[in-house]
Amino acid sequence: MTEALIRIENLKMHFPIYKGTLARREVSRVKAVDGLNFEILKGETLGLVGESGCGKSTTGRAIIQLYRPTEGKVSFEGRDLCKLSPRELHPLRRNLQMIFQDPYGSLNPRMTVGDIIGEPLRVHNLAAGRDVQRRVQELMDIVGLDPRYVRRYPHEFSGGQRQRIGIARALACKPSFIVCDEPISALDVSIQAQIINLMEDLQREFNLTYLFIAHDLAAVRHISDRIAVMYLGKVAEMANGKDIYEKPLHPYTKALISAVPIPDPEIELQRERIVLTGDVPSPINPPPGCVFHTRCPFAFDRCRRDVPEFKEAEPGHFVACHLMDEPKRVADDVPGVAAAVG
Ligand code: SF4
Repeated sequence: MTEALIRIENLKMHFPIYKGTLARREVSRVKAVDGLNFEILKGETLGLVGESGCGKSTTGRAIIQLYRPTEGKVSFEGRDLCKLSPRELHPLRRNLQMIFQDPYGSLNPRMTVGDIIGEPLRVHNLAAGRDVQRRVQELMDIVGLDPRYVRRYPHEFSGGQRQRIGIARALACKPSFIVCDEPISALDVSIQAQIINLMEDLQREFNLTYLFIAHDLAAVRHISDRIAVMYLGKVAEMANGKDIYEKPLHPYTKALISAVPIPDPEIELQRERIVLTGDVPSPINPPPGCVFHTRCPFAFDRCRRDVPEFKEAEPGHFVACHLMDEPKRVADDVPGVAAAVG
């Protein structure tokens, strides 16, 4: 599991803000994604975590070209998706699918389940006539839905069942890569585990690669091989799941980890909490230097001036923090917390 399926270089997604009605002019930009560099390996699940509004969903959509990126490169099967025209992109889209967060809003209420799941097959000319029906019922069976319900409408299903319909639709074209955009956060806790188990089974069976987006670390812990932590349009840290939980290097990751409850009252009472103060700055006007410096308990002069490079601190463990160059500073400036970063 070492070959990259998708390689992202300096990916930026800026949304222009316009003013005026007759003479519209661009007055500013929302820098939702601002220079991402990472790889998604074949067959892995990469968890993408961060607070609401940090750019996770935009990243997923920009990778599969639902948004056309402002700048950067997304390499897939040796081609840069950002450079392809809509016509060139069309045949590749069947390999790049998405499961949406909202199982209520993401299904057309006027279409039957059969039409919803069969639509990608027709759009990509993969089946016609009775073959569509046959494949739809096969997909329903795969995701745990009764194929006899093929003529029912989305409102006749529960939230978990609707998410299964969304998963079947994503699987219809036999994709290699699926962006899972918070697929369990709108579901009851009792249903979440079922959907996660289903997604893991499907990954094994069909050799799928997932980008699994979630807003908290606890949600991706079980399913992810590696985890990338995002803050204000940038990746702060990326490593395998064990290292992120047991040896986080970035102060933001440490703060997120310290907020995950531990189901042992004794350990929970003893452990140190890192509580971040202040709000996430606006992506319209992100802070200079390190975008986290306005909330970081370890910030020093260089953080306010220079953008930290996203680089490999340990084998396979990438982090964007100036403390990696100056670990001694932690001990000198913030007594008692050196161990937290070192
Ligand atoms: Fe904190 Fe500075 Fe590291 Fe940013 S670069 S996370 S502000 S110590």
